[in-house]
Amino acid sequence: MKNPPALERLVEALRCLPGVGPKSALRMTYHLLQRDREGANTLSQALDNALQVVSHCDLCNNFSEQTVCPLCASSKRDGSLLCVVEMPTDFMMLEQTQAYPGLYFVLMGRLSPLDGVGPREIHLDKLIKRAQDGLVQEVILATNYTVEGEATAHYISELLRVRGIKVSRIARGLPMGGEIEHVDSGTLAQAMMERRGIA
Ligand SMILES: [Zn+2]
Repeated sequence: MKNPPALERLVEALRCLPGVGPKSALRMTYHLLQRDREGANTLSQALDNALQVVSHCDLCNNFSEQTVCPLCASSKRDGSLLCVVEMPTDFMMLEQTQAYPGLYFVLMGRLSPLDGVGPREIHLDKLIKRAQDGLVQEVILATNYTVEGEATAHYISELLRVRGIKVSRIARGLPMGGEIEHVDSGTLAQAMMERRGIA
């Protein structure tokens, strides 16, 4: 006995999600088709809509429905500070601290040669261009204190320094191997305030 082809296609499609193997994809498929067709419909529409309207901000590279996102467009932010983070979750954590007045650049990843993630995949050309807009005075590297986050920070600091751009790194209030996403906002605010220049 085989499942109908359309059902099998859904199982296959669900496997694009991280950590979803054949068994859980099959379980999800049965759930959607048997127990929650309304949820499945909402999911399908939300996915379709998000794919159509969500892209990346021209300036900060974060997800955005506009060419320039509301934060980058805000006149209330300090355009002389540019904070580089790995993921949108890190950006949200830093925003929650309310300790940082500047703008951001979201890499959407970290350098990880073994996984095929190089400078191009984390949009470093876009970052270099962004940092040289004439307004940015300091680039603050707020990548994670993990091996890959540190390597990414080091790589970016070299690229910026040869172009005469001032670079700093958020302080290690974060534990070794610390991921920004899992740090409380007091510690993170402290790390931002105690950032140090990279000589
Ligand atoms: Zn933006």
